[in-house]
Amino acid sequence: MSIPYGRQSISDDDIVEVTRVLKSDWLTTGPDVENFEKQISQVSGANHVAVVSSGTAALHCAYVAANIQPGDEVITTPLTFLATAAMASVFGAKIVFADIQSDTGNIDPNSVQSLITSKTKVITGVDYGGHPVEIDELKELAHKNDILFLDDAAHSIGSTYKGRPIGQDADLTTFSFFPTKNLTTGEGGAVVGSNAELVERARKYRAHGLIRDDASMRTPGVGAWNYEVHEFGLNYRLPDILCALGASQLKRLEEFKSARTEIFNRYSESLADIDWITLPTKRDYVDPMWHLYPIRVPSEIRKKLFDYLRAHDVSVQVNYIPMYWHPVYEDLGYKRGLCPNAEEYYLGEISLPMFADLSKLEQSTVIGLIRNFFN
Ligand SMILES: *Cc1c(COP(=O)(O)O)cnc(C)c1O
Repeated sequence: MSIPYGRQSISDDDIVEVTRVLKSDWLTTGPDVENFEKQISQVSGANHVAVVSSGTAALHCAYVAANIQPGDEVITTPLTFLATAAMASVFGAKIVFADIQSDTGNIDPNSVQSLITSKTKVITGVDYGGHPVEIDELKELAHKNDILFLDDAAHSIGSTYKGRPIGQDADLTTFSFFPTKNLTTGEGGAVVGSNAELVERARKYRAHGLIRDDASMRTPGVGAWNYEVHEFGLNYRLPDILCALGASQLKRLEEFKSARTEIFNRYSESLADIDWITLPTKRDYVDPMWHLYPIRVPSEIRKKLFDYLRAHDVSVQVNYIPMYWHPVYEDLGYKRGLCPNAEEYYLGEISLPMFADLSKLEQSTVIGLIRNFFN
């Protein structure tokens, strides 16, 4: 049996909850949506929450809330999954890639500062591997320059920064509930924030732009059936079936976190003496929910180690190909060499299996294989 790099943990309670919804009146747009949103609000410290159908949808809605227009600039990291930048590119924004800190893999505030122009509309951080970005610095840079600070927290629900939960600080924070992430709804995501107006704009976009509240209508008082559309939106709703799964998963968030912390610590202790491996680091003011365990090795041996682990049924992963290396960005004129730290990070990176249900035995197998690599 192959050991994946990430996978879901589904309990009997999760199954009971999903079954309960299947037998109820509401499969979608029912009471479990609001309940899940309330739970996310508690965990994230954000007053306003809109759940959506994926992390990608969450980013799409967040850029709508930020009112991204053609020609606006979005500063973000190249060391991320495509959607972080793509969901701004689809509105005609210009993506400006800032380089990363070589140790955490997170966007470097100094690089961000040097790239801010009068056209910068959003700074999007990504809490790489679950380790929060430099929130205070990025937020200050953003607000000093009238820029929105967005945190793509697809990896980091459950992490804290200076004792504060991820979701509390950024103007908008997005989560993903894909099966490999810290908790899952199969597919799913959320936009959260403490500014009601911003999150409401995201919420409207998730459901066709429909307005049902009389006070917001151009022609109020028509009748109880009436709704209006002032701006187009999509159908990005998260059904009650999945919201029930998500709320049930959230109950185990601390359990997931301690399991991931234990796995993190064991890798770090067991691989510490190997001089050709660079282990992940942690700032002392953060407490990550570790989504990944990213090691780095000399670039000459990365492919060999990757193929060796895959050949032994360990489904390691590489996170991430620098965004602008993708032909879709290359065709827009981005050149290799743009962000040297991110490229160097990518060239040596391998993500080891990291998920709550990874057994001690499975982890021993991974550690043993790595220790034997040169034998
Ligand atoms: C997974 C991920 C996304 C997209 O989330 P989906 O739920 O898969 O759409 C966005 N950004 C980052 C950093 C991710 O890891």
